[in-house]
Amino acid sequence: MIDNITFDEVFDDNRPQLNAGPHPHAMMDITNTKDPDMDMARVVSHHSGMQAGDASADAPGSPLAAPVSPCTTDECSRQQHPHQPAHGDSITGRYSNIEHSYHIDPRVLGTGHHGSVRKCQDRRTGKRYAVKSIQKSQRSVKPAGLRREISLLHEMRHGGIIGLRDAFEDAQYVHIVTELCEGGELFDQIVERATDESSPGCFDEVQAAGILFQILKAVQYLHDRNIVHRDLKPENILFDAKDGASVKLIDFGLARRHDGRHEGPMSTVVGTPYYIAPEVLKKKYDRSCDLWSVGVIAYILLAGYPPFNGKNNADTHRAVSRGRYRFASEDWKHTTSESRDFVRRLLQTDPARRMTVDEALAHPWIIRHNQGPIVFGNSRSEDESSVEVGLDQSYEIMNRWS
Ligand code: ADP
Repeated sequence: MIDNITFDEVFDDNRPQLNAGPHPHAMMDITNTKDPDMDMARVVSHHSGMQAGDASADAPGSPLAAPVSPCTTDECSRQQHPHQPAHGDSITGRYSNIEHSYHIDPRVLGTGHHGSVRKCQDRRTGKRYAVKSIQKSQRSVKPAGLRREISLLHEMRHGGIIGLRDAFEDAQYVHIVTELCEGGELFDQIVERATDESSPGCFDEVQAAGILFQILKAVQYLHDRNIVHRDLKPENILFDAKDGASVKLIDFGLARRHDGRHEGPMSTVVGTPYYIAPEVLKKKYDRSCDLWSVGVIAYILLAGYPPFNGKNNADTHRAVSRGRYRFASEDWKHTTSESRDFVRRLLQTDPARRMTVDEALAHPWIIRHNQGPIVFGNSRSEDESSVEVGLDQSYEIMNRWS
């Protein structure tokens, strides 16, 4: 369990510094600094000179394949970043070679809109982590957004949210090292269960309410800090371990800080079609968009398929905007009215009528199935967007349901 980011543990003076500059620490990533006053979030914001917000990332993106494998040889690394970046050119303010600190497994664990994720191992401690490598040259990758993602992750200290361990940058990539989740995506579990014809539905109510409770606790932690995730979906919820007991929220690429009391509504349309809230499509929304997504996830956990669907994104968006869905009796007859009430109170097209995260956590169905102490497997949040992913970029993910 990583409670704190221990940047100062990673740098090893005895290891060869292939790209050592004038000072042996010149190759050191800013995140590895031994200077206790040099906190990464501050360094990031110092170098970015940008504030998080929709305006920094409103430009539409384009669909892109996941980045190719990062260069993982010393020779390659030498070629990749022989020089430190010119001021303003980099995300973190400093180039360094992740291979000096971590051994990266070449096999890909998962790919997202912007990064491919691999296992890696701390060369000094032997501990295993996950590393997301994001190719900076992708048109959809916005420096301000990537800084925001790292900065937000850096704040997270919650058992239900992935913990940041380190961040590295070279000429082509930014590498984000986080806790490793070995249990796979919630999405895969849903597909597996939904296609199992020997049992009805997907997750049983006890399991579903347990998972939703953990998701809601993570969302509560975010919302208490005025952070909105904006891309809650089963692909971004990972099982910590193979036992499937605890889940963690990942991917803060679309998250941002937003204080609804002092700021106007958000307006950038971001998210993934199945899970996007109707008011997001209307470009006027607040944190309650996350609760809509939780409602969609709840529906899927119980039924095995999404409540709003369509032949293409435009169709799905229309279905979301209409907000009409069914509890088809053949699929829902084994469920309790309490579970359906929970879903119904989240899938309210009017955000004012939708449950808040605190209300959702206090719903009788959630309370009934989560009486005992909750033990999160591991752990360790806020605003900007790498990657305010335009909706077009979510098509591939959306099609995973079809
Ligand atoms: P992107 O920001 O590019 O969309 P994600 O952060 O969503 O990338 O990660 C892509 C996929 O990689 C995830 O859906 C998951 O399968 C896998 N993955 C991400 N983080 C981890 C992790 N910490 N442990 C294990 N697998 C991970």
